[in-house]
Amino acid sequence: MIKAPVRRIIPHSLVDGPGNRTAIFLQGCNLRCAYCHNPETQKIYTDNSSLEIEWMTAKEVFEEVEKNIPFIRGITLSGGECTLYPEFLTELFTLVQKAGLSCVIDTNGSIDLSKYPELMEVCTGVMLDVKAWDEKKFKRLTGGSNEVVKKNLKYLADVNKLEEIRIVCIEDEVDTEDILKGIKTAIGYKIKTTKLRLIKFRNHGVIGRLKDANSPSDEYMNGLKEMALKIGFEKIIIS
Ligand code: SF4
Repeated sequence: MIKAPVRRIIPHSLVDGPGNRTAIFLQGCNLRCAYCHNPETQKIYTDNSSLEIEWMTAKEVFEEVEKNIPFIRGITLSGGECTLYPEFLTELFTLVQKAGLSCVIDTNGSIDLSKYPELMEVCTGVMLDVKAWDEKKFKRLTGGSNEVVKKNLKYLADVNKLEEIRIVCIEDEVDTEDILKGIKTAIGYKIKTTKLRLIKFRNHGVIGRLKDANSPSDEYMNGLKEMALKIGFEKIIIS
């Protein structure tokens, strides 16, 4: 079995997808977001040089999940960027689904998920970050490209795996209005049934360029919610 670098396993989480879930955080990320709350999870390891991570097989992780089965609805894989390890996810989700639990991915959307149909087969849903719509804004914010994120957005909506869209909102930094309009163009009427989470930026844990940026006001967030409603979203959460 393939091993993946596990940073942390939280047995019970109510903030990582629907219901009570075991959340598994894998080490390593291919972006460098200026607002990253978990910069310690970014470095990609290929060896045993870090004492902070444990290389585990899907079976070993499943044995940890099994202990929580009476209390959880499913598992969520997060990071870092968990889709850097698609074969591991496929093996783990296959085991977890057989136990009757749901399997959710929390992702920055930068890995083309259409290339992993076997993973999508055993994945219940994907929580997709859309960090900026304009290519230059995305690059400035993350260091990467959003071309694949947009492709994943449409693909996941088409195969009914889009569990939630997430936008971290920061005034003058994130083009939230353009994101909302872009999503509508990409997935059409499915904006009505897809959960949209507008996340208020908070700077705790941030060491990047935005470490001193202000959190948006409640008024600003409510304005974004109004805008989303006008565009056609119906299931909007502010957090
Ligand atoms: S995608 Fe997530 S883990 Fe990666 S740098 Fe951005 S915020 Fe941090």
